[in-house]
Amino acid sequence: MESSQFLKSLEILSDLNDQEISFLASKAQWIDYEPSAPVIKRGEIGRFLWIVYEGEVTVVIPAVGTSGKISKTLERGALFGEMSVMTGEPAIADVLTSTACKLIKIPRESFSRLIAGNPKTLGKFARLITDRMIQNAQTATQPDLLRVAHQENQDPYDLNFSSASEPMKILVLNCGSSSLKYSLFDTVQALPLLEGEIEKIGSGDAVHKVNTPRTSRKDDQKNVMTMKDAFDVMLGTVTDPACQAISKLSDLNAIGHRVVHGGAAFANAVLINNDVIQSIRASCDLAPLHNPYNLAGIELMRGLLPSIPQVAVFDTAFHQTMPSHAYTYALPHELCEKEHIRRYGFHGTNHEYVALRAATWLKRPVGELKIISCHLGSGASICAIDHGRSIDTSMGMTPLEGLIMGTRPGDVDPGALLHLMRADSMDVERMDRMLNRESGLKGITGKNDMREILAGAAQGDVQCTRAISAFCYRIRKYIGAYMAALGGLDVLIFTAGIGENSAEIRAGVCQGLELFGIHLFHERNQLSVQHGQVLDVSQPDAKVRILVVPADEERMIARKTLHALGRVITTEQALLLGSRPVPISVSAHHVHLKQSDFELLFGQGKTMTPKSDLSQPGQFSCQETVNLIGPKGKISHVRILGPGRKESQVEISRTEEFLLGIDAPVRESGDLEGTPGITLEGEAGVVILEKGVICAKRHIHMSPEDALGFGLRNRDVVRVRVRGEREMIFGDIVIRVDPHFRLDMHLDTDEANAAEISSGSVGIIESIQHRNYM
Ligand code: ADP
Repeated sequence: MESSQFLKSLEILSDLNDQEISFLASKAQWIDYEPSAPVIKRGEIGRFLWIVYEGEVTVVIPAVGTSGKISKTLERGALFGEMSVMTGEPAIADVLTSTACKLIKIPRESFSRLIAGNPKTLGKFARLITDRMIQNAQTATQPDLLRVAHQENQDPYDLNFSSASEPMKILVLNCGSSSLKYSLFDTVQALPLLEGEIEKIGSGDAVHKVNTPRTSRKDDQKNVMTMKDAFDVMLGTVTDPACQAISKLSDLNAIGHRVVHGGAAFANAVLINNDVIQSIRASCDLAPLHNPYNLAGIELMRGLLPSIPQVAVFDTAFHQTMPSHAYTYALPHELCEKEHIRRYGFHGTNHEYVALRAATWLKRPVGELKIISCHLGSGASICAIDHGRSIDTSMGMTPLEGLIMGTRPGDVDPGALLHLMRADSMDVERMDRMLNRESGLKGITGKNDMREILAGAAQGDVQCTRAISAFCYRIRKYIGAYMAALGGLDVLIFTAGIGENSAEIRAGVCQGLELFGIHLFHERNQLSVQHGQVLDVSQPDAKVRILVVPADEERMIARKTLHALGRVITTEQALLLGSRPVPISVSAHHVHLKQSDFELLFGQGKTMTPKSDLSQPGQFSCQETVNLIGPKGKISHVRILGPGRKESQVEISRTEEFLLGIDAPVRESGDLEGTPGITLEGEAGVVILEKGVICAKRHIHMSPEDALGFGLRNRDVVRVRVRGEREMIFGDIVIRVDPHFRLDMHLDTDEANAAEISSGSVGIIESIQHRNYM
């Protein structure tokens, strides 16, 4: 009772009714602290709202760059940690107790759900957060503070599940035609509780391997003839007291399934329901060797454990950000449409994982890195990752395209296949067998295990030497191509069986790439990578970091499962609040200029002449316009938007890029590294920008109050349904929260045309597509 009274006595919570207060009190933990005890460490992801009940705490923003240390004392009734509710960003301050303290800790989810439903309280929190955001923005070093906080966060991409506010047990499944792989994760533990694999199911010779952090065992399971038999063995094992994993199946919180092909329907992991099953079934034709088995596993599991939420995690999802020029095949358009022929790419779960792992290890945001990841296992693919997004990958519509693999050829002239069909009368079945099982390293050498091929080459086997050279050369060729696609390179990653274990192959790949800043450190390259650890094998002063990063698809599937559930819960809560429409503005092409460029274009000492106000407070369109001149064409009278910026920037649509002959990436405003340049022509002169042309990433501006109301945080990515003549769902829309923003969604003219939208239309936020921390 005392706890409820105390909470009720706080001004900021005074508008909550008794029921709401007792809900908060029931979720709150009261914790005693000694003096000088750490409460929040800078860099930590905030999962709680804190209130001082007794004693005093000190908030310390340590000195960064030119700023001095700032410290502040909080007394009884003061709140802290509230910014994490809003931004999801790591804490920029250390909080420690100054005296013995009793503190109240409320999980973020419980708290945000409650205040989102209470407009008065929401308003008070929004004001508090707005004030603190404005105060923080006045610290000149705010970006530096965030950068340091990011660097000090041990798990900025949640790869160790550190954002889970309650412990969860997640079972990860990978069902093949004759094998079942499974891993059991506990979100509070670094290593999986258990990993198992049942192979040769149905052969009468099945084998079961199980590893726990303490034990390893392998036994025959000759009676395992069907996937159902394999599931029974697995479920018996995870609950076996000897494995010390879980005591009963109802201890499982979720199940994550690997699904190879999601077609163009899934850009993210999803909670499985009947519609999702239907879509996976529809993609079976695209991946006949995998999807039917993945699907069988899902249906079996739904039958066995119907009450446990299950999530599908797709190998193709990460590559859904590829631009159309990367995924289009130059085949007849109608045929491609009818048969869904395009490039999809695979291994996406691991490509994304190693990119995030590399960024964590380098202590740099993935959003500022250009990465090429080489996944070299028995299947192999390479991926170009720009600012955390896949922009190209070597596997195509199926896993046959691209690199040379264990038994698949990768790129091959389709004319050679036509020739074989004619000259050798090869039918579809034989062709399929040849391409999937008899080609690649096996085709060249008769062996598909790289270890044997390396040994063969060491003994002078010419075909083995040739296979290794061809394997490395193909990868090197792709690295060159992807450096061109990315416009540079910061990190080259080697992962999976061959990439992690073969120093010789890494050396073969990197040979001759010194010109591009890729310098292998040969002594370090000989070291073996420690379990789960990242190894830097580049020369210390080289431009490009070459990293060996162990693959861990299972961990990524568990993380995506956790996040998919979090998104569903958050979206449902947001929907319960009633979906408030978001106004849509169509942004035509425009230019932001820095003052010095403005003067070069319009004359010395000239300043921007405001013409009319824009929807965002303080922003305006100018009387002045410039002409954009690209290598191919020109666009005249493009409006300048004020006020002036630190760097000049040109925002155009895809269609206009084509007109100008410029290939610009999709970027957020201000993120101009590695973007193409352009010539600007004004009344008084010409400016040649070396960089600055972008195709603006779709976004929604909102104030902290809007964000609290929608249950959204800064940098969430959402989907929005736009009603109208041609109803459409837009995905990949970034939420940007700032006290100065007014609720408004920005689309460019191409996007608006596609949905026949004009300014004045509205959209409804349907779901959270992506959130870094749950
Ligand atoms: P999968 O795609 O089946 O998961 P893996 O990632 O396990 O494949 O990689 C299997 C490949 O890794 C095999 O070709 C194997 O020969 C190769 N490999 C494993 N260890 C080494 C090693 N020390 N040197 C060279 N190749 C290796």
